[in-house]
Amino acid sequence: MNLSNALLRWYKKYGRDLPWRKTRDPYRILVSEIMLQQTQVPRVVLFYKKWLKEFPNWKALARASNAQVIHAWAGLGYNRRGLMLRDIARELSSIKHQIPKTEEGWRSLKGIGPYTAAALAVFSLRKRVLPIDTNIRRTAGRILLGKPFPQPADDDRIRSHASRFTLRVSRFYDIPQALFDLATKICTKTPSCVMCPMRSTCLAAPKFLSGRVRVPKQMVKKSFENKHRDKPYPDRIYRGRILKVVRESIRGISVDTLGLKIDPKFNRVQDQTWLLHMIDRMIKDGFLERKKANLIDIFKNSC
Ligand code: SF4
Repeated sequence: MNLSNALLRWYKKYGRDLPWRKTRDPYRILVSEIMLQQTQVPRVVLFYKKWLKEFPNWKALARASNAQVIHAWAGLGYNRRGLMLRDIARELSSIKHQIPKTEEGWRSLKGIGPYTAAALAVFSLRKRVLPIDTNIRRTAGRILLGKPFPQPADDDRIRSHASRFTLRVSRFYDIPQALFDLATKICTKTPSCVMCPMRSTCLAAPKFLSGRVRVPKQMVKKSFENKHRDKPYPDRIYRGRILKVVRESIRGISVDTLGLKIDPKFNRVQDQTWLLHMIDRMIKDGFLERKKANLIDIFKNSC
């Protein structure tokens, strides 16, 4: 069976029914793509629907204040993504700007990287472009190149071989979605090739099926997240807690109280510089606003 047909037949039966797969609206697709960066699909489904109710289009989002965006984004993590999405909406809602009609056009917007631009090109503009993230790299790299553990350096070769998916297929936009789902359900780090619809055409399948592949031990991603001394979590967890506490405090909060609220083991001597550094960064990023000159005084979400 043809490579694409085998994949699409499987996708029709087992693919996930996700709301952003039913639209070509670039706004909705961008919202889903930004939310899906570092957040699991089931969680994104919940927030996506809620977000669209509050901000149904570019214009509605462009009007939103920092506080409204942060409030609606709360629970998704990495709040900067929400503000970046709002900034893109503002740029696209300005008179001089138009919604991009090409992958390069999307790419030229601040905050949109190569993967997101390619995703918009294929899902919204229906171009034959393969957006390559970790999942697609793994599955497409195995099928097309026969490499058991493809690396980012293989992306160009994967793209150049992607035309094998396009034969007699007018629904190319389903190919990346099908590869996502195959990567999540079957073609995982240690793939279940016996259950896979691609096993007769995948170039890596014979290697896995013969047991000749050893999973590299060092496949755990190195974390580049900042972490303070003996704190158990990375800083982003504490920044999320800071936002929550500040949002819930009616008249602002002192730094010491804030420290204890985000970490019961907060030590004024050892941890205050760390906390102030996080607060400064959050003020700079537009998440918080200093209401008084004294640093150890009151902070509140900007409106
Ligand atoms: S045959 Fe195996 S390696 Fe190839 S796509 Fe399927 S699960 Fe992945």
